Amino acid sequence: MRVLLVGSGGREHAMAAAIARSPLLEALFIAPGNPGTAALGTNVAIAADDVAGLVALARAERIDLVVPGPEAPLVAGLADACDEAGIACAGPTRAAAELEGSKSFTKDVCDAARIPTARWERFDSMAPALEFVRRRGAPIVIKADGLAAGKGVVVAMTEAEAEDAIRAMMDDASLGDAGRSVVIEECLVGDEVSLFAFCAGETAVLIGAAQDHKRIGEGDTGPNTGGMGAVSPPTGFDRARQEAALDVLVRPMLDEMVRRGTPFRGVIFAGLMLTDDGPKLIEYNVRFGDPEAQALLIRLESDLLPALASVADGTLDTTDIRFSDDHSISIVLAARGYPGKPVAGGVIDGIAEANHLPGVHVFHAGTRQDAEGRIIAAGGRVLTVCATGTTLAEARSRAYHGVAAIRWDDAIWRRDIGERALRGES
Ligand code: AMP
Repeated sequence: MRVLLVGSGGREHAMAAAIARSPLLEALFIAPGNPGTAALGTNVAIAADDVAGLVALARAERIDLVVPGPEAPLVAGLADACDEAGIACAGPTRAAAELEGSKSFTKDVCDAARIPTARWERFDSMAPALEFVRRRGAPIVIKADGLAAGKGVVVAMTEAEAEDAIRAMMDDASLGDAGRSVVIEECLVGDEVSLFAFCAGETAVLIGAAQDHKRIGEGDTGPNTGGMGAVSPPTGFDRARQEAALDVLVRPMLDEMVRRGTPFRGVIFAGLMLTDDGPKLIEYNVRFGDPEAQALLIRLESDLLPALASVADGTLDTTDIRFSDDHSISIVLAARGYPGKPVAGGVIDGIAEANHLPGVHVFHAGTRQDAEGRIIAAGGRVLTVCATGTTLAEARSRAYHGVAAIRWDDAIWRRDIGERALRGES
């Protein structure tokens, strides 16, 4: 198969590594890719959201399968354009990607499919939204309706905080179109976990579950980031529980999407809260998470390529998909200054040494290679150091040994990834 993988993060490096192991692979192109993917295939300098450029490349290179990594190309209509061009694509159409693109769309689907989720209401103007908060009280959750690059959610602990969030989103238009309407939800209490599955039409096949660490600082302090690390599986959320959650939170959604004439295909990422009343949906994303993908894919025992091809052609129910029972962990190395202004230009050594340690895999994200072949920091999240182990303690110790092998002066990382899970907390 000739494959075009779209994206440039650690997630895409991990996907490329799994695809490159496939005996079915004839050629792998990555657009735009990073120095890690360059070692596994051919990087092509086309942006991940340049749909016309990607389809032209797919045509020119006689691509059999397009694999989108991030959400941007999906929301931009990459899968629709592939469908029109007769090229298989392992990601959802724009209509199905609304599951990530619009919170109120997702809430409508949840209501129609009777999926447990926080009680909610949508507001297009400010006065009734403020009135609603005064009636309901805090804690309460305020969300910009559209895609807001992770900045569109405020879990308000006081009414004043909730009112400020509504004003910021609706009045100051600080989020542009994304904040024009808001969804206000009941605040769910419990452990938060992420569930991943391959989907095609009505079929969902479990990938696994992970728990990420969103804040920059140890002890879950400081600003939110794209994710500083993940453990898989989360404590107390074993495969039987994951399967049960898939039945309640994902399969009914797939049926509803088929019923609406906009079937979902791709990787679903269900963010959920394990409440005292059972798992409840917080949100769907229509692709792998980063750094969850890295932690999940290093445990994949079967071939990723037929799995992705069967997502695209709808034969998922007959495809062999197996993951090891190991534990895994991913630790993000970011550049000092992240998530604000990261320091660029530092030289990174030791990646090969880290990769030689038992169970350790290092994935590139914001790196570039200079003329002398050195790896240089060129982004916020720069590397993901991952490891597997028969226990979480083993995986964690291996991954931190991997981190210690990396020599890069500007690196920042959390020392406490997996610590709470090890203590039996989530
Ligand atoms: P979202 O963008 O919807 O995933 O929300 C971002 C984060 O806000 C989630 O990962 C949760 O930690 C939190 N959150 C969102 N909705 C709720 C809710 N209804 N109750 C409690 N926390 C929530």
